Amino acid sequence: MLRFAPSPTGDMHIGNLRAAIFNYIIAKQKDKKFLIRIEDTDLSRNIEGKDKEILSTLNLFGLLWDELIYQSHNFPKHRNFADYLIKKNKAFYCYCTKEFLERKKQEALELKIPFRYDNSWAEIQKSQNPNPVIRLKGSDEPICFNDSIKGDLEFAPNELDSFVILREDGIPTYNFACACDDMIYNIDFIVRGEDHVSNTPKQILVQKSLDYDKEIGYAHLPIILGETGKKMSKRDSASSVNWLLEQGFLPQAIINYLISMGNKTPVEIFSLEDALKWFDINHIAKSPVKFDIKRLRYINREHLKKLDENQIALLLNSKDITIGAIAKLYLEEASTLNEIRKKIDMIFSPKNIMAEYEGESFEGECKKLFKVLCAMEAENTECLNQYETFKNEAMQRSDLKGKKFFKPLRILLSGESHGVDLNSLYPYLRFYLKKILQIKGEE
Ligand code: GLU
Repeated sequence: MLRFAPSPTGDMHIGNLRAAIFNYIIAKQKDKKFLIRIEDTDLSRNIEGKDKEILSTLNLFGLLWDELIYQSHNFPKHRNFADYLIKKNKAFYCYCTKEFLERKKQEALELKIPFRYDNSWAEIQKSQNPNPVIRLKGSDEPICFNDSIKGDLEFAPNELDSFVILREDGIPTYNFACACDDMIYNIDFIVRGEDHVSNTPKQILVQKSLDYDKEIGYAHLPIILGETGKKMSKRDSASSVNWLLEQGFLPQAIINYLISMGNKTPVEIFSLEDALKWFDINHIAKSPVKFDIKRLRYINREHLKKLDENQIALLLNSKDITIGAIAKLYLEEASTLNEIRKKIDMIFSPKNIMAEYEGESFEGECKKLFKVLCAMEAENTECLNQYETFKNEAMQRSDLKGKKFFKPLRILLSGESHGVDLNSLYPYLRFYLKKILQIKGEE
């Protein structure tokens, strides 16, 4: 089984989504089940409703799961495992108070040596502390594992002291719960962010101590850097999946982009379904990758181009296929649904004829042409049926020529002085002329 294990403690980050996509793909490729495990062990950090939000995001991206569990439901199982480890003498009660450990940490700091828990401290404070924690005994041997992206990794015994697996309130620690659950659900392979590399030896040690000898495969994904080359933080809006969706990036384009980051793909534009055929986690580059929104925009535009007029109209919340057709024309210059929406809004909003367009004012010409176009619209003669005849008639009646005609015409029809070819656009505007012909101040 493969799993994706989000914590319901914040918005979904693109790094999380990337891990979810890769785990999903590998599950499909190996014909294994895909489990979603909501890691809600840190009760104080859980945010109400985040679990549902994450699930609906996964759904939207087509990352459908076979099983869903909440880690906290397994707390009784985790406690049984901890008891078992105590019985087998692989774990022990530790009565150290927080103050005592703080003091020891301070001493290590002053001596400039790394702080390591010393097993001999376990019962020093037995009489003062009625609520001991349970610690797993550290390892005498190095812990090694192979990472499909980072290669062979080894952690020396002194890097793994006896760490807490069950807190004083009986709640399992993150690493313990995670390691137990990966065992319980027979997880085969784990893709996750590289911030978890240092957790992996601890989790392997838990499983070894529980006599679990299945070798789980790992792939730790390099971090994603922001445009400035620093680690992308929650403050970078583009790191939030919700933000990208709000901007009008399509789920299929985001998936395409996240799969191609730090990866050589056989084609540039593809679907999740296509990637199932060739995706190989071993090909993901080791080095951190920069989030390139320009590239995502390009990919998004390519995916938008694949949609037909009806599909785009629906994404723009319109049942009108004409809107979809106009949107497709605007794909020449717009890359997201929001950008398209803005362009279409401009067509149907009162035009600002007083503004300067590329440093020039066309106010007088716009006024003149506006009157002509309104009259033509009201007369509703055949010349409106085609751009050529419409344009010729308008030119003749307004007595405007060249730039002084075309710029105002474009401004009055689209709200901009440059852009999509009017010849292609006009057929879709033709039946909306009354609505389109409005100017600011005269609404
Ligand atoms: N809950 C962890 C996270 O969101 C998942 C770690 C894992 O996949 O093991 O980063």
